[in-house]
Amino acid sequence: MPAPAGPAPSPPEPLFGDPAFPPGRAAGLARLAHFVPRSGAAYAAGRNTDPGPDQPGAVSRLSPWLRYRLIDEQEVIAAVLARHRLPDCDKFVQEVLWRTYWKGWLERRPAVWSRFIEERDRQRDNPPDPLLLADAEAGRTGIEGFDDWARELVGTGYLHNHARMWFASIWIFTLRLPWALGADFFLRHLIDADAASNILSWRWVAGLQTAGKTYLATADNIARHTGGRFAPRGLASEAVALVEPPIGAAGPVPPAAPAPPPDPALLLVTADDLHPEALWTPGHPVAGVLVVDDPALLWGDRARGFVNAAMTDTAARLGAHFAATPSLRTGLDASGLVAVAEAAGVRHIVTPYAPVGPVADALAAIEPTLAAAGVALHRVRREWDEWFWPHATKGFFPFKERIPAVLRELGLT
Ligand SMILES: Cc1cc2nc3c(=O)[nH]c(=O)nc-3n(C[C@H](O)[C@H](O)[C@H](O)COP(=O)(O)OP(=O)(O)OC[C@H]3O[C@@H](n4cnc5c(N)ncnc54)[C@H](O)[C@@H]3O)c2cc1C
Repeated sequence: MPAPAGPAPSPPEPLFGDPAFPPGRAAGLARLAHFVPRSGAAYAAGRNTDPGPDQPGAVSRLSPWLRYRLIDEQEVIAAVLARHRLPDCDKFVQEVLWRTYWKGWLERRPAVWSRFIEERDRQRDNPPDPLLLADAEAGRTGIEGFDDWARELVGTGYLHNHARMWFASIWIFTLRLPWALGADFFLRHLIDADAASNILSWRWVAGLQTAGKTYLATADNIARHTGGRFAPRGLASEAVALVEPPIGAAGPVPPAAPAPPPDPALLLVTADDLHPEALWTPGHPVAGVLVVDDPALLWGDRARGFVNAAMTDTAARLGAHFAATPSLRTGLDASGLVAVAEAAGVRHIVTPYAPVGPVADALAAIEPTLAAAGVALHRVRREWDEWFWPHATKGFFPFKERIPAVLRELGLT
């Protein structure tokens, strides 16, 4: 009997082929559209399984586009909620909101970011076991799974969430390597390398984030969730939490001030938000668009390559959106920005709010020079962050309780 006619099955999406993560907003939206039908029960059932880099899995692999905000959390959740009811897709919604939560948590405790930089530099200058460190990064420890993930990370720029957790746990508790150097290794190779999501996840595994609560990778758990591909022997049998001096209470969410002026302004685009047209107030005059690619504000070449190509795509979109000819510049420097602002005849630069991390640090460093030249820098924050970050006060669970109410406020449910 011939098969009944029906809709043609959608072709399988390329995985780690060529290219696995095509840069650009259209590619992110296409991946989102492909994933949305699978974002309910299928995601909840399969998200913990890592079938390997060359196999289709249940997770979305949307993280590079979300990291640079080529697509943003709000539109991802809106697309999912347009297809599924909340109880059916709450696992996926919560995972996306882990990202928002980590960002908000770090905004309120920026000292954790500076403490990481100090600790990383201290450990880099004097690593406790340089040979073991080199073996761990090269995938030469002899630990099944761990060595494969090290090579997968370097080879693809991506790891499944569960592999990230196992890898971090083995790094800290079996190999007893410094957690900050593990976080640094991830930052140098992940395309989605992100200050908050990476550092706070490593701290969480180490028992620093939720004081005393660690994550211990076990051979049984790894075998179960890798379809039996790996069952490493000799893993640490206990995970004693690392300790650090107290970090102090959460501060307020920093203001996204000063408010943008009514006068024409230059729109400054950085790697931290490559879809800024979404937060531009209609009617607000744009005197020019400047897209700044600064490789020094990213950690690794894969991320740099992704962002560089994505910026070309963003500049083309912004040109059409604002009927302007965007300038693409390399390097975020004050004198260059002042020159572009003067050429455009403006005294205001508006930029999407950069959360704690290298871009925010670079903007803070150049702001006094801009001000001295009579150019004001205005940071505009997304509604999503304004609504959620105030709730990132303590752990994820109180934050999670607020999710349904905020989604209602945002008109998403
Ligand atoms: C040690 C460690 C380091 C990590 N470093 C990073 C990092 O540098 N950058 C990064 O974006 N994520 C990081 N994560 C979080 C998570 O592993 C990735 O976001 C996720 O694996 C990306 O794959 P996906 O898009 O298929 O996720 P999906 O499961 O499809 O989730 C959808 C989206 O939700 C967000 N998300 C999901 N899980 C988490 C999580 N646990 N924390 C924060 N956001 C999450 C991501 O934006 C992701 O794209 C890290 C996790 C660990 C344990």
